[in-house]
Amino acid sequence: TSLSNIRNFSIIAHIDHGKSTLADRLIQLCGGLTAREMKAQVLDSMDIERERGITIKAQTVRLDYKAKDGQVYELNLIDTPGHVDFAYEVNRSLAACEGSLLVVDATQGVEAQTLANVYQALDNNHEIIPVLNKIDLPAAEPERVRQQIEEVIGLDAHDALEISAKSGLGVEDVLEAIVHRLPAPKGDRNAPLKALLVDSWYDAYLGVVVLVRIIDGTLSKGQRIRLMLTGGAYQVDRVGIFRPKQEMRNSLGPGEIGFFTASIRQVADTRIGDTVTDEKKPTAAPLPGFKPSQPVVFCGLFPVDASEFEDLREAVGKLRLNDASFDYEMETSAALGFGFRCGFLGLLHLEIIRERLEREFNIGLIATAPSVVYHVYLTDGTMTELHNPADMPDTQKIAKIEEPWIEATILVPDEHLGAVLKLCEDRRGRQTQLTYAGARAMLVYELPLNEVVFDFYDRLKSVSRGYASFDYHIIGYEEGDLVKMALLVNDEPVDALSIIVNRSRAEMRGRAMVDKLKDSPGHMFKIPIQAAIGGKVIARETISALRKDVTAKCYGGDITRKRKLLEKQKAGKKKMRSFGKVDIPQEAFIAALKMD
Ligand code: GDP
Ligand code: MG
Repeated sequence: TSLSNIRNFSIIAHIDHGKSTLADRLIQLCGGLTAREMKAQVLDSMDIERERGITIKAQTVRLDYKAKDGQVYELNLIDTPGHVDFAYEVNRSLAACEGSLLVVDATQGVEAQTLANVYQALDNNHEIIPVLNKIDLPAAEPERVRQQIEEVIGLDAHDALEISAKSGLGVEDVLEAIVHRLPAPKGDRNAPLKALLVDSWYDAYLGVVVLVRIIDGTLSKGQRIRLMLTGGAYQVDRVGIFRPKQEMRNSLGPGEIGFFTASIRQVADTRIGDTVTDEKKPTAAPLPGFKPSQPVVFCGLFPVDASEFEDLREAVGKLRLNDASFDYEMETSAALGFGFRCGFLGLLHLEIIRERLEREFNIGLIATAPSVVYHVYLTDGTMTELHNPADMPDTQKIAKIEEPWIEATILVPDEHLGAVLKLCEDRRGRQTQLTYAGARAMLVYELPLNEVVFDFYDRLKSVSRGYASFDYHIIGYEEGDLVKMALLVNDEPVDALSIIVNRSRAEMRGRAMVDKLKDSPGHMFKIPIQAAIGGKVIARETISALRKDVTAKCYGGDITRKRKLLEKQKAGKKKMRSFGKVDIPQEAFIAALKMD
């Protein structure tokens, strides 16, 4: 195909506004799949993704569209991940395209995610086609939403398309608009190979598959290539496209989107945003915008049943194969035994991995409280990154601690504004903007990420009855009055329950935690549960507990012996965790880590 007949585009939308439905409809209209193959939404392939209606991995599909002008166009649709945690991945997917369809649910209007995505598309110089979806519904208000797009986003919406992705109404016009309103890609076939690494994943048959957008030059079977920023050199063994089924090709040229395989050992060797070039005849400079994605939220994951540790090791290894942004290292906790300290791009990413471990690998897990990455400045002038409250240095050695702050954008209907303002204020937020978009308030707040990772998102949904939408990005680090709060069960600190918290919020959180723990059932004798900062108890409850002697020997013992002991106890107490001389049921443990 000549460059002038190629169109590369993304669909951007807030969750549930109809992105996947529209994508399926476009594929169907272009004959990519039969009705039977369509079955469930093809672009959201993983179970959890389908259930939650979100996309984690960018999927791509090439469509051949015969337009009304009689010409056949090659349309490449790149699906973008649908959640704030994957903002960088979204950005790189958008960088592979010249334009986007902005899908807005005509019964809902602009939401926080719509805004975040549009700004990213504009950053990538996209031509944007606004599409008002769900106009088949009686509640659709296309005129109001049109006006909102103009007022809130500042985008000309007079020629926005009105469609129903569900019934197919107006979808043909979307294809025509893609052809006539979006620009064709530019590129030089004779220049050295320069391609954007958009995504990569592990395929059971093909090994590591790399999705690329060719900017200049060609990528061919047998070619020796180099990943410019990570440095690896490989020989290409397969080149192809997705329709959405794989179709092998001999080469890909400028403007095209497709995949290659090159006997790359692991997904982690291929970083999203890297530049693929020819090994012997490299392009002068890599593409701009590369930013290796870094975990921002950490937590410990431990098997409920200590004997499942090896299964957990294997499972996290498998997940990591396909997800280079998920990080882990082994961790030992006196209370929980062996597990892994894991790093995630955000809370949703954490939840997805945890759910997959439980569902796909069938491992019962205890997750410790999520923690952000703190910058701890020591009195000797050095700085360490702290991911785990258990590693907090002695207070005397600390000069100051900095914590990450975010800028959050929240859209909420007027009647819930008060409750959302209160929530943000309670979480140490600083309001920077409050404007109106129709009957919705648009709030911009700066908040410590620490206050958001616990349960902010759940609280926001509950105080707004599900109507608030939320998006955030990290803006930087700021000094905070942060302390480590230990939790003591029967006078012994339980490392897995300690958290880092702002001093002003410590008492409230400590009280909530001991309160939850005291509800553990039991009957033999009373033991104290305390929350303490630096030895000073700030909250206390007592709990009835079962005596448990065998674990007492575990403390301070060597690791293998401790593990054997833990394994011995596993029968009959799968759902219990030992703290000092007592057992606490898993549910109480998990409850203590939640806050409401
Ligand atoms: P996504 O999260 O943006 O991918 O949204 P989906 O495509 O999964 O759609 C969310 C929900 O809206 C699904 O239940 C769809 O069936 C429904 N939906 C999508 N488009 C339309 C439409 O044009 N009309 C109606 N009535 N429902 C739609
Ligand atoms: Mg979807």
